[in-house]
Amino acid sequence: SMMVAFALGALTDLWADFMRAAGAAERVFELIDRKPAIPSEGGERLASVQGRVEFQQVRFAYPTRPDVPVLQGIDLKLDAGEVVAIVGPSGAGKSTIAGLLARMYDPQGGSVVLDGRPLGALDPEWLRQQIGTVAQEPMLFATSISDNIRYGRMDATDAEVEAAARAANAHEFISRFPEGYHTLVGERGVQLSGGQKQRIAIARAVLKNPRLLVLDEATSALDAESEHLVQEALDRLMKGRSTIIIAHRLSTVIGADRVLVLEGGKVVQSGNHAALMGQDGLYRRLVERQFVAA
Ligand code: ATP
Repeated sequence: SMMVAFALGALTDLWADFMRAAGAAERVFELIDRKPAIPSEGGERLASVQGRVEFQQVRFAYPTRPDVPVLQGIDLKLDAGEVVAIVGPSGAGKSTIAGLLARMYDPQGGSVVLDGRPLGALDPEWLRQQIGTVAQEPMLFATSISDNIRYGRMDATDAEVEAAARAANAHEFISRFPEGYHTLVGERGVQLSGGQKQRIAIARAVLKNPRLLVLDEATSALDAESEHLVQEALDRLMKGRSTIIIAHRLSTVIGADRVLVLEGGKVVQSGNHAALMGQDGLYRRLVERQFVAA
């Protein structure tokens, strides 16, 4: 029946998404909640992506809590290759913006546009192939390091996997394991540090080679050495790609083309770091207490 076909399609898609996101268990439930709303395929696939992103008066509430407005008329513009940092207090809606770009949900008002095409007109599967993500605490599959990186592009050769690992500053630590790229990670393998996991996730994104990046910067402190290697790898990854970064570090907001200050689902300030520091507003307070104090 249609119902069964739909459910199977949704499940297959869910599994693919789950594997891709490799998120925590609760993410599965989020995915189950949202899947029926977004068709898994169909729609345009652009021949090439420049990476211009625009949010136009985007309004959004989660389907499970339709009465709670989460984004209340968001405008955001990202030219090809630009870096926009989003800052704001917990619950302001930063991750929700990132989720809407990957079309995890559709907005209730306004639109999200890629290269002049509303996301609703694009094939969601294709769209997600154009976006690389690096999560705060990337979860790895219980398999080899090499397979974990190859997840970015399944048909990549060993040489390409290694090149991606080098670009991500991961080759050196991987090579120090006796089994090298065949080293198993997870419960039955080696335990990697937070910084090492991030560099694996960066290698995955390098291999994927997307035009768009969504980065969720780690809040937890890494040791200085790892911090430097992660930062260097991220800078390399971001070069020439349109990037939305949920920022927690001063160096990131200083380096961004534009900073969006979000509060209660609204953009309360936007501009570059210097301009925002010149205003008596939330940004300066966030910088003083969150970044400098950290
Ligand atoms: P943080 O810095 O803590 O990660 P954030 O700025 O990224 O916060 P969001 O995660 O986008 O904020 O959340 C915005 C609002 O939406 C919050 O009130 C949150 O409780 C709510 N929210 C987030 N995810 C869901 C969901 N799946 N279902 C219902 N409400 C949600």
